[in-house]
Amino acid sequence: MFDRLKQAFQSIATAVKQKELTDEELDKALFSFQISLTESDVGQRVAESLAREVQASLSGAKVDRSADLSEVVGEKLSAVLGEAFAKAGTVDLVGNIKEKRKSGEPYSILFLGINGTGKTTTVAKVANRLKKSDLSVVCAAGDTHRPGAIEQLTEHADRLGVKVVSQRYGADPAAVGRDGILYAKAHHSDCLLIDSAGRMQTNQNLMEEMAKIVRVVKPDFRLFVADALTGNDAVSQAELFNEHVGFDGAVLTKADADVRGGAALSIVYSTGKPVLFLGVGQGYDDLVPFDSAKFLGSLLKAA
Ligand code: GDP
Repeated sequence: MFDRLKQAFQSIATAVKQKELTDEELDKALFSFQISLTESDVGQRVAESLAREVQASLSGAKVDRSADLSEVVGEKLSAVLGEAFAKAGTVDLVGNIKEKRKSGEPYSILFLGINGTGKTTTVAKVANRLKKSDLSVVCAAGDTHRPGAIEQLTEHADRLGVKVVSQRYGADPAAVGRDGILYAKAHHSDCLLIDSAGRMQTNQNLMEEMAKIVRVVKPDFRLFVADALTGNDAVSQAELFNEHVGFDGAVLTKADADVRGGAALSIVYSTGKPVLFLGVGQGYDDLVPFDSAKFLGSLLKAA
């Protein structure tokens, strides 16, 4: 997993290792560093910004030219990324749900993302995970646009023994979410998972629809679902949703495939929001907590 991104970090180290550090050489190393990052699916703007940060700290510091430059670069990079991941923080969903339940109210999670990213599957995986933590779960079929979306969610939920609140196709998704809240309250459920529509991310109506669900339902958590295989697109989608709707954390699906890792790094660095889970397959148990320390450690060790 993430082999391409590890290679990118290795190539930075090699580029710097093989040269004596002058400003010009540093520029060159950082330029090739940016290209390697971009090839590893780190967004262009993120790569440039990271390079700027690393350069600013290096040119400001007194670097012994005989020093191990791969270590110097590695440490700066580690510091910059470590700070970004630390700022994004971590989320204890189960803990948060239990805390909210003390007030007698269900905890609601709105799933956001573009069609095909694995949103509905992730709703099912999260339901499965929460059930295994002895929490009761209800789902709301908030994608009232895509033909088959309600049946797809219902099929997953039936297999997991979870109730789905739904209306007809074309219904207002915010009303479906509100119904879900009412049902979850009436049945003393711990948590409500709300699926949502995900047609083209550039569709202004979609952003308005999502913003309306947020206004009406006031979810406790907005979970953005991104397909790690789409690399740069996943990052642009994250930026768009973050700007127009806002989200509190992300899930990166399809991390079981040959994923370069840049999407995880870029989403955290550019939105400041944490990645909570990685989707690592099509089964309900194929959802693993994202360990940022391990992720960064393995990248930087590779360098
Ligand atoms: P949605 O349109 O965003 O709701 O996407 P779906 O949940 O229907 O998922 C689209 C496809 O991606 C389905 O075939 C899923 O089985 C598959 N999928 C979802 N998550 C993962 C994952 O983590 N790994 C793999 N390999 N496939 C996944």
